[in-house]
Amino acid sequence: MRIAIIGGGIAGLAAAYELEKARAAGADVEYALYEACERLGGSLASETVNGAVLEQGPDSFLTEKPAAAELCRELGLGAELLPSNDAARKTYIVVRNRLIALPDGLMFLVPTKLIPTALTRLFSLTTKVRMGLELLIPPRPSGLPDEAVAALVERHFGAEAVDRLADPLLSGIYGGDAAQLSARTVLPRLVEMETQYGSLTRGMLAAHRQMRVRASNSSKESNRGAAPRPIFTALRGGMQQLVDALVDRLDPAFLRLATPVSSIEKTTNGWRVEAAGANEPFDAVIFASPAWAAGTLLGKVDLELGEELGAIPYSSSVTVNLVYDEARLGPLPDGFGFLVPASEGRAMLACTFVHRKFLGRTPPGKAVFRAFLGGIRNEALLNGTDEALAAIVRRELSEILGEKTIGLNLEPEHIQVSRWRRAMAQYAVGHQDRTARIAARVANLPGLRLAGNAYDGIGIPDCIRLGRKAAKELAALAAPVPNLPPGPR
Ligand SMILES: Cc1cc2nc3c(=O)[nH]c(=O)nc-3n(C[C@H](O)[C@H](O)[C@H](O)COP(=O)(O)OP(=O)(O)OC[C@H]3O[C@@H](n4cnc5c(N)ncnc54)[C@H](O)[C@@H]3O)c2cc1C
Repeated sequence: MRIAIIGGGIAGLAAAYELEKARAAGADVEYALYEACERLGGSLASETVNGAVLEQGPDSFLTEKPAAAELCRELGLGAELLPSNDAARKTYIVVRNRLIALPDGLMFLVPTKLIPTALTRLFSLTTKVRMGLELLIPPRPSGLPDEAVAALVERHFGAEAVDRLADPLLSGIYGGDAAQLSARTVLPRLVEMETQYGSLTRGMLAAHRQMRVRASNSSKESNRGAAPRPIFTALRGGMQQLVDALVDRLDPAFLRLATPVSSIEKTTNGWRVEAAGANEPFDAVIFASPAWAAGTLLGKVDLELGEELGAIPYSSSVTVNLVYDEARLGPLPDGFGFLVPASEGRAMLACTFVHRKFLGRTPPGKAVFRAFLGGIRNEALLNGTDEALAAIVRRELSEILGEKTIGLNLEPEHIQVSRWRRAMAQYAVGHQDRTARIAARVANLPGLRLAGNAYDGIGIPDCIRLGRKAAKELAALAAPVPNLPPGPR
């Protein structure tokens, strides 16, 4: 069976790796991985500059979702997995140029601890009273249409909680807008809790109790003394390590770099893929490109499918890494960094204090600030020059952290600017209905699979899971190679 993989980001690489495994196990599979750019990895890219690991795209993945760490272990990168420094975890929200720490006890945007919520300066008294009264909200009927995250959060905790909590947290993850993102897709647990309990605080407390009971039972049985899981996991040498380890396992003869697929056609027995002037037959195709690219190509095969894929919105973003000599900085607040609400009117959406979040990836005596800018509300920013973008970040850092901590005349030792155009899918209201319609149309096109961040999870683990699943399903359809024992070929 010949399979084309279109897109060499983490989803496409995970698919190719799975096909290599199937080949090694004796399946009659061959593949070609088409990547438009000259490098593989898509949004995963890092470089090490004077001992400092600088992430251009993602810096880590959620530990709770196992697919990424599992793949790293399979690839022999187990010893390279680096937990986030959760002992120092503290995140700030910028409110009128001041940093206010997120109160203790926040779970998925829901305040669960009375005293920290009562004492925080993040919310006005009116919002705090409203958070208390939220406990009385009765259950909501099930089966109501999807709505925006902002509508759900506002109904429970008021507009200030949207502005200072939901919106900055989500724009830090999706580069998105809480008024557009789908509650059912982005916060499914909260939607379920609303149906079961009404009050999200009561729902979250109940879930927390159940989790504690389960954890104590399992620690009694087997897990005695196990360290708690970190929130985030990174790789010591950066996400590029994962890309390099995957590429090492692939047959170079099957990789087509700088080869954008320009056209695709469904034939009686399979597919034809056109790229760089050559047209090749395949039995199956895995689209691991962004949905907008898949939509353009698949529109010629199935117009409706193309339109559905093309209608998934994407945001663009910029990351700026600044390396400083720590001794020349003034005192920096504890913690991992800060998020900036849209109402602050700044270009920066978030900033990570990299040297605090992951220990050992920055040389001693250096500080690394990683700013995240752009997003759905400020795409035009990507047109700025590197110098202009770095200048914006330096000015905003100085205004937010204070001239004494990071003066404007303090020159960074290194500046790295990366642009990510239309890289992050936005799960808009109605996303699940759209993906169900897409799945129904894909089911009518034998040999077609979709993977990547547009469908069922924006993070690295979900992209890996979908890439591997697509490849496994197709490899299962391939016949074993006759008269060949299983093993590497
Ligand atoms: C700045 C940034 C920070 C992020 N931070 C995190 C984080 O900390 N943790 C986390 O879990 N996730 C994070 N994410 C999200 C995560 O990195 C992405 O969702 C994920 O890497 C997407 O992988 P993918 O393979 O689906 O797509 P991509 O990485 O976008 O890869 C798709 C590939 O398809 C190629 N392509 C497009 N058209 C064609 C064509 N016609 N022919 C051939 N190839 C084509 C593209 O060139 C690209 O290489 C972040 C994303 C960004 C941009």
